[in-house]
Amino acid sequence: MSQRVLIVEDEPKLASLLSDYLQQSGFVTEKIDNGLEVESWVKENSPDLILLDLMLPGKDGVEICKAIRGFSSVPIIMVTARVEEVDRLLGLELGADDYICKPFSPREVVARVKAVLRRQQGGTISPLIRGIVLDESRYKASIAGHELVLTAVEFQLLNILFTGQGRIYSREQLMDHIYSDNRVVSDRTIDSHIKKLRKRISEAVPDKEIIHSVYGVGYKLEENI
Ligand code: CA
Repeated sequence: MSQRVLIVEDEPKLASLLSDYLQQSGFVTEKIDNGLEVESWVKENSPDLILLDLMLPGKDGVEICKAIRGFSSVPIIMVTARVEEVDRLLGLELGADDYICKPFSPREVVARVKAVLRRQQGGTISPLIRGIVLDESRYKASIAGHELVLTAVEFQLLNILFTGQGRIYSREQLMDHIYSDNRVVSDRTIDSHIKKLRKRISEAVPDKEIIHSVYGVGYKLEENI
Protein backbone atom coordinates (compact mmCIF):
# COMPACT_ATOMS: atom_id res chain seq x y z
CA MET A 1 0.00 0.00 0.00
CA SER A 2 1.23 3.50 -0.78
CA GLN A 3 2.52 5.56 2.08
CA ARG A 4 0.68 8.76 2.75
CA VAL A 5 2.50 12.06 3.17
CA LEU A 6 0.75 15.10 4.59
CA ILE A 7 2.10 18.37 3.16
CA VAL A 8 1.42 21.32 5.44
CA GLU A 9 2.33 24.37 3.36
CA ASP A 10 0.54 27.66 2.77
CA GLU A 11 2.26 28.53 -0.50
CA PRO A 12 0.03 26.78 -3.06
CA LYS A 13 2.68 26.52 -5.80
CA LEU A 14 5.19 24.99 -3.43
CA ALA A 15 2.63 22.57 -2.03
CA SER A 16 1.68 21.45 -5.54
CA LEU A 17 5.30 21.05 -6.57
CA LEU A 18 6.05 18.87 -3.55
CA SER A 19 2.89 16.93 -4.07
CA ASP A 20 3.76 16.22 -7.73
CA TYR A 21 7.24 14.99 -6.93
CA LEU A 22 6.09 12.80 -4.06
CA GLN A 23 3.31 11.31 -6.18
CA GLN A 24 5.80 10.54 -8.94
CA SER A 25 7.75 8.60 -6.33
CA GLY A 26 4.72 6.55 -5.44
CA PHE A 27 3.44 8.41 -2.38
CA VAL A 28 -0.13 9.42 -1.79
CA THR A 29 -0.27 13.06 -0.73
CA GLU A 30 -2.62 15.34 1.11
CA LYS A 31 -2.27 19.13 1.35
CA ILE A 32 -3.29 21.41 4.20
CA ASP A 33 -2.63 25.17 4.02
CA ASN A 34 -3.86 26.29 7.44
CA GLY A 35 -2.18 25.51 10.74
CA LEU A 36 -5.44 25.13 12.60
CA GLU A 37 -6.58 22.15 10.54
CA VAL A 38 -3.53 19.94 10.98
CA GLU A 39 -3.97 18.22 14.34
CA SER A 40 -7.53 17.03 13.83
CA TRP A 41 -6.67 15.77 10.35
CA VAL A 42 -3.66 13.84 11.65
CA LYS A 43 -5.75 12.30 14.44
CA GLU A 44 -8.37 11.13 11.97
CA ASN A 45 -6.13 10.02 9.14
CA SER A 46 -2.83 8.81 10.64
CA PRO A 47 -0.47 9.79 7.79
CA ASP A 48 2.87 7.98 7.43
CA LEU A 49 4.86 11.23 7.42
CA ILE A 50 4.29 14.97 7.73
CA LEU A 51 6.16 17.75 5.93
CA LEU A 52 5.51 20.69 8.20
CA ASP A 53 6.19 24.28 7.19
CA LEU A 54 7.23 26.53 10.06
CA MET A 55 5.37 29.73 9.15
CA LEU A 56 1.68 29.08 8.63
CA PRO A 57 -1.53 31.00 9.03
CA GLY A 58 -3.58 30.00 12.06
CA LYS A 59 -0.96 28.15 14.06
CA ASP A 60 2.78 27.90 13.50
CA GLY A 61 4.76 24.74 12.84
CA VAL A 62 6.44 24.72 16.24
CA GLU A 63 3.13 24.62 18.11
CA ILE A 64 1.71 22.04 15.72
CA CYS A 65 4.74 19.79 16.08
CA LYS A 66 4.52 19.94 19.88
CA ALA A 67 0.81 19.19 19.82
CA ILE A 68 1.21 16.22 17.46
CA ARG A 69 3.96 14.77 19.62
CA GLY A 70 1.42 14.71 22.43
CA PHE A 71 -0.52 11.95 20.68
CA SER A 72 1.56 10.55 17.82
CA SER A 73 5.09 9.51 16.91
CA VAL A 74 4.46 9.99 13.17
CA PRO A 75 7.69 11.11 11.45
CA ILE A 76 7.76 14.90 11.03
CA ILE A 77 10.10 16.85 8.76
CA MET A 78 10.11 20.55 9.59
CA VAL A 79 10.49 22.97 6.69
CA THR A 80 11.92 26.38 7.43
CA ALA A 81 12.85 29.38 5.35
CA ARG A 82 16.07 30.04 7.20
CA VAL A 83 19.09 27.89 8.02
CA GLU A 84 19.62 29.85 11.26
CA GLU A 85 16.21 28.71 12.46
CA VAL A 86 17.33 25.08 12.62
CA ASP A 87 19.55 25.60 15.66
CA ARG A 88 16.72 27.27 17.50
CA LEU A 89 14.30 24.52 16.51
CA LEU A 90 16.69 21.81 17.66
CA GLY A 91 17.02 23.64 20.95
CA LEU A 92 13.27 23.56 21.41
CA GLU A 93 13.39 19.76 21.47
CA LEU A 94 10.34 19.41 19.30
CA GLY A 95 10.83 15.78 18.46
CA ALA A 96 10.94 16.44 14.72
CA ASP A 97 12.80 13.80 12.72
CA ASP A 98 14.55 16.06 10.24
CA TYR A 99 14.78 19.67 9.07
CA ILE A 100 14.79 21.06 5.54
CA CYS A 101 15.60 24.65 4.61
CA LYS A 102 13.97 26.66 1.85
CA PRO A 103 14.74 27.03 -0.95
CA PHE A 104 15.05 23.30 -1.52
CA SER A 105 15.00 21.07 -4.54
CA PRO A 106 11.92 18.84 -4.59
CA ARG A 107 14.18 15.88 -5.34
CA GLU A 108 16.06 16.55 -2.11
CA VAL A 109 12.79 16.60 -0.19
CA VAL A 110 11.72 13.28 -1.69
CA ALA A 111 15.11 11.80 -0.76
CA ARG A 112 14.77 13.03 2.83
CA VAL A 113 11.22 11.69 3.09
CA LYS A 114 12.43 8.28 1.96
CA ALA A 115 15.41 8.40 4.33
CA VAL A 116 13.28 9.25 7.36
CA LEU A 117 10.77 6.49 6.53
CA ARG A 118 13.59 3.99 5.98
CA ARG A 119 15.19 4.95 9.27
CA GLN A 120 11.89 4.52 11.05
CA GLN A 121 11.53 1.04 9.62
CA GLY A 122 15.08 0.16 10.60
CA GLY A 123 16.14 -0.23 6.99
CA THR A 124 19.48 1.52 7.33
CA ILE A 125 20.82 -0.42 10.28
CA SER A 126 24.56 -0.63 9.96
CA PRO A 127 26.47 -3.87 10.55
CA LEU A 128 27.69 -2.96 14.04
CA ILE A 129 24.34 -1.70 15.21
CA ARG A 130 22.76 -4.81 13.82
CA GLY A 131 25.20 -6.51 16.20
CA ILE A 132 23.31 -5.14 19.19
CA VAL A 133 20.94 -7.69 20.66
CA LEU A 134 18.47 -6.66 23.33
CA ASP A 135 16.44 -9.10 25.39
CA GLU A 136 13.77 -7.00 27.05
CA SER A 137 12.36 -9.82 29.17
CA ARG A 138 15.70 -10.38 30.92
CA TYR A 139 17.21 -6.87 30.58
CA LYS A 140 20.18 -8.44 28.85
CA ALA A 141 22.10 -6.82 26.03
CA SER A 142 25.03 -7.80 23.89
CA ILE A 143 27.02 -6.06 21.22
CA ALA A 144 28.95 -7.87 18.51
CA GLY A 145 28.70 -11.03 20.60
CA HIS A 146 29.98 -9.44 23.83
CA GLU A 147 27.54 -9.36 26.70
CA LEU A 148 27.01 -5.93 28.27
CA VAL A 149 26.56 -5.89 32.03
CA LEU A 150 24.01 -3.11 32.48
CA THR A 151 21.81 -1.75 35.22
CA ALA A 152 18.09 -1.56 34.52
CA VAL A 153 18.34 2.17 33.76
CA GLU A 154 21.32 1.70 31.44
CA PHE A 155 19.45 -1.07 29.64
CA GLN A 156 16.40 1.14 29.17
CA LEU A 157 18.52 4.01 27.85
CA LEU A 158 20.19 1.73 25.33
CA ASN A 159 16.83 0.30 24.37
CA ILE A 160 15.30 3.73 23.69
CA LEU A 161 18.29 5.05 21.75
CA PHE A 162 18.57 1.80 19.79
CA THR A 163 14.89 1.69 18.90
CA GLY A 164 14.99 5.26 17.61
CA GLN A 165 18.50 5.08 16.23
CA GLY A 166 19.63 8.12 14.32
CA ARG A 167 17.04 10.18 16.12
CA ILE A 168 18.07 12.80 18.66
CA TYR A 169 16.57 12.43 22.12
CA SER A 170 16.63 15.26 24.63
CA ARG A 171 17.50 14.45 28.22
CA GLU A 172 13.93 15.25 29.12
CA GLN A 173 12.58 12.73 26.64
CA LEU A 174 14.95 10.08 27.94
CA MET A 175 13.88 10.80 31.50
CA ASP A 176 10.21 10.57 30.54
CA HIS A 177 10.81 7.14 29.03
CA ILE A 178 12.74 5.82 31.98
CA TYR A 179 11.01 7.23 35.01
CA SER A 180 7.28 6.77 34.72
CA ASP A 181 6.68 7.74 38.35
CA ASN A 182 7.29 11.47 37.72
CA ARG A 183 10.16 11.58 40.14
CA VAL A 184 12.42 14.57 39.79
CA VAL A 185 15.65 13.68 38.09
CA SER A 186 18.28 16.16 37.02
CA ASP A 187 19.87 16.32 33.56
CA ARG A 188 23.11 15.27 35.19
CA THR A 189 21.57 11.97 36.25
CA ILE A 190 20.92 11.11 32.63
CA ASP A 191 24.42 12.25 31.69
CA SER A 192 25.97 10.01 34.30
CA HIS A 193 23.94 6.98 33.21
CA ILE A 194 24.92 7.66 29.60
CA LYS A 195 28.55 7.92 30.65
CA LYS A 196 28.41 4.51 32.33
CA LEU A 197 26.58 3.00 29.38
CA ARG A 198 29.25 4.30 27.02
CA LYS A 199 31.92 2.80 29.26
CA ARG A 200 30.24 -0.63 29.14
CA ILE A 201 30.01 -0.42 25.35
CA SER A 202 33.63 0.66 24.97
CA GLU A 203 34.71 -2.24 27.17
CA ALA A 204 32.94 -4.61 24.79
CA VAL A 205 33.93 -2.92 21.50
CA PRO A 206 36.88 -0.61 22.28
CA ASP A 207 37.18 1.41 19.08
CA LYS A 208 33.53 2.15 18.40
CA GLU A 209 31.60 5.16 19.63
CA ILE A 210 27.92 4.73 18.95
CA ILE A 211 26.23 6.99 21.49
CA HIS A 212 26.78 10.58 20.45
CA SER A 213 26.16 13.81 22.32
CA VAL A 214 24.39 16.46 20.30
CA TYR A 215 25.53 19.71 21.79
CA GLY A 216 22.81 21.55 23.66
CA VAL A 217 20.18 19.02 22.66
CA GLY A 218 20.72 15.46 23.87
CA TYR A 219 21.87 12.10 22.61
CA LYS A 220 21.53 9.77 19.68
CA LEU A 221 22.71 6.31 18.81
CA GLU A 222 24.38 6.00 15.45
CA GLU A 223 27.46 4.37 14.09
CA ASN A 224 30.15 6.80 12.98
CA ILE A 225 31.17 6.01 9.47
CA1 CA B 1 4.80 29.32 5.04
